[in-house]
Amino acid sequence: MKTIFEKTNGNDGINITDKKLDTNFLPSELVRKGNIGLPQVSELDVMRHYKELSDLNFCIEKGFYPLGSCTMKYNPKVNELLASLEGFNIHPSVDDDLAQGSLELMHKLQEALLEVTGMDAITLQPSAGAHGEMTGMMIVKKYFDTIGEKRTKVIIPDSAHGTNPASAKMSGFEIVEIKSNEKGQVDIEALKSVLNSDVAAIMMTNPNTLGIFEEQVEEISKLMHENGSLLYYDGANFNAIMGYTNPKLMGFDVVHLNLHKTFATPHGGGGPGAGPVAVVEKLKDYLPSPVIEFDGEKYYRNYNIKHSIGSVKDFCGNFSVLVRAYAYILMMGKNLKKASENAVLNANYLKEKLKKYYDLPYDEPCMHEFVITGEKQKHENGVSTLNIAKALMDGNAHPPTVYFPLIVHEAIMIEPTESENKEVLDNFAELMIKIAKECSANPEKILSAPHSTPVRKIDEVTAARYPDLKYTD
Ligand SMILES: *Cc1c(COP(=O)(O)O)cnc(C)c1O
Repeated sequence: MKTIFEKTNGNDGINITDKKLDTNFLPSELVRKGNIGLPQVSELDVMRHYKELSDLNFCIEKGFYPLGSCTMKYNPKVNELLASLEGFNIHPSVDDDLAQGSLELMHKLQEALLEVTGMDAITLQPSAGAHGEMTGMMIVKKYFDTIGEKRTKVIIPDSAHGTNPASAKMSGFEIVEIKSNEKGQVDIEALKSVLNSDVAAIMMTNPNTLGIFEEQVEEISKLMHENGSLLYYDGANFNAIMGYTNPKLMGFDVVHLNLHKTFATPHGGGGPGAGPVAVVEKLKDYLPSPVIEFDGEKYYRNYNIKHSIGSVKDFCGNFSVLVRAYAYILMMGKNLKKASENAVLNANYLKEKLKKYYDLPYDEPCMHEFVITGEKQKHENGVSTLNIAKALMDGNAHPPTVYFPLIVHEAIMIEPTESENKEVLDNFAELMIKIAKECSANPEKILSAPHSTPVRKIDEVTAARYPDLKYTD
């Protein structure tokens, strides 16, 4: 009798005693003949190996993470505990009767998100912001198809996140890009010049990706609605306005939120996330199914939505992300407004500290983030924004978002979030100022950065063209 686990000569971390495991039923050509050659390591060795790997990783628990547009705020650890509660660990196919607690949580989260957005109906299904955008644009498409209007174009400002045109295009629209004005906002005249009966919608982010509030948003929504078009709100920057205003008041018809940004659920490394989509009354019947409803006695999944675009994700979306977001909202209560207030204050504080050392293309009060540029350093010292970003890693700070938005050359987009205190902001400002001074005094040091990370300066072109993904000693 053969056993799958053979006694080996190396260190052992497991002790498998089930000698009765019989593999005779396997075709002999499929049975491994020799030793598999796995590393022979003890449990302690394995633990140390993984801890060492995790130490190579930069994360919010390790240092400041001012990644603009991503809202890398503190994710309260109690949320993890709540998301792992035994009662939430149920199969998504169980009957509604057996899932009342989970359904209640989703319903209450829906209500809370409707309250902060001002909208009328919502789906929690999409699993990311970009996924929400596509869901929203499919709703817009189906709406016009249903009412019998042929509208083929979607207007997108040049400051938009790349996912906006991608989502509109994938939903079957043609993209019309419009330029921003000298204040970094949508240029009304440019908008008027492309507005006609082909236009289905405009996709906007407010505050936009320059961290600037679109002051003419009401006029824009009036123009769009008079044209019979809809307005889509990219809610990735929602952290700037929570409790102060909302997309409904600004005139938007469809909104996505990024729960993994604004509502303190972890992200990075590709997910999981959640991108709920909220709509005004007239688009309610187009939402993906199911929507969670309450009949006064019972919570239930409603699959019966008249013009539904169908399902965009299996079951009800990334449920554990929803638990974390709901816990965060309950914990914050009315202080959600305070989070926005402090996020805006922190960004303005840092902007004022840095603007003497780096060019500030739009010198205006900012919202929760701001964009400076490394153009001066590039022209005067031959040091690029990428070099500056690498040098920040030596100071235990995650680099900000760089080279985005595309309309600012050598862009450095900084979003401190509300979770950081003055000391952290001061240290980061000092680090940025030290780097700016070093760019002229000793550019070689910045050009060769990082000097302290496990992997030094990498050859990015070769890494992209000839990726070597094997592990070798
Ligand atoms: C992050 C972001 C998105 C996309 O959201 P994901 O959740 O990453 O898919 C869209 N627009 C803006 C402005 C963003 O910052």
